[in-house]
Amino acid sequence: MSNTPEIGSRTRTRAIMEKYGIHTKKSFGQNFLTDLNVLKNIVDAAKITKEDNVIEIGPGIGALTEQLAQSAGEVLALEIDQDLIPVLEEVLEPYGNVTVLNQDVLQANLPELIKEHFTDPNKPVKVVANLPYYITSPILMNLLASPVKWAAICVMMQKEVAQRLTAKPGTKQYGALTLAIEYQMSAEIAFNVSRRVFVPSPNVDSAIVVLKPRQSPLAVQPFDKKKLFGFIRGCFAHRRKSLWNNLQSTIGKQAETKEKMQGILDQLGISAQIRPERLTLEQFIKLANALHADQLL
Ligand code: SAM
Repeated sequence: MSNTPEIGSRTRTRAIMEKYGIHTKKSFGQNFLTDLNVLKNIVDAAKITKEDNVIEIGPGIGALTEQLAQSAGEVLALEIDQDLIPVLEEVLEPYGNVTVLNQDVLQANLPELIKEHFTDPNKPVKVVANLPYYITSPILMNLLASPVKWAAICVMMQKEVAQRLTAKPGTKQYGALTLAIEYQMSAEIAFNVSRRVFVPSPNVDSAIVVLKPRQSPLAVQPFDKKKLFGFIRGCFAHRRKSLWNNLQSTIGKQAETKEKMQGILDQLGISAQIRPERLTLEQFIKLANALHADQLL
């Protein structure tokens, strides 16, 4: 085995694809990473140690899984494409700490899988993945909605989405997705990755984002998390329009409603004419709470 190149090398990837007759499936967002430096840097960015349980989403032909297996305690890899399961079983056979399941991550009961498959489910659980880009947001939202307290989520995604996740108020990229992440985690771009290191090469560049649990709790709590995010999405429905216009479309246009809304904005010191992307998460929560107190939300 020691003479076999690692899975993420171009030569080994080619050999595996040829041996098993693998044709990547666009419908599953299959772009295999073939750069050992990038793969090792992902494992470093996630600060994986033998103390960690790792869930990998979409192992493909096992390039990242192999690197994770070398650094982590145990790895649970969830792959939707059943054609890849026998390949993964064979190429990862030398690693006794890897479990591969034929599983759609969006349908997975993650707390159950953690209990069932990790020897010590109480160890920190990290998610590491080169995500299928067509479902980046649903995967992230599912991870955040899960009761599991992730020690870290270190994932590769399209660069533009990474910029939205880590955007600051007042920027074009700042929006409902930024705020949904900020509600629970701190987000940072670890590094960018060129499209050239994938087989096949996608039409976009990529970035690795590291999400960690928030260090400090939110200064204000929302009256209802789900309603808060419904409200935030409503406020960003027409991002080129003012907050006031968006509030009228999402809350109401009646004279009484408008009067109450204006009173709330005055009280919070928020100008009705600003664009929604200038509001911080804390301001959105205060606004939603005040609208709720006035029975408008
Ligand atoms: N980890 C491999 C790598 O870095 O080379 C492959 C990454 S590829 C961008 C995304 C992988 O996710 C593919 O293997 C694809 O089949 C898998 N995938 C797509 N949708 C999935 C889903 N809903 N659940 C689990 N895996 C999925």
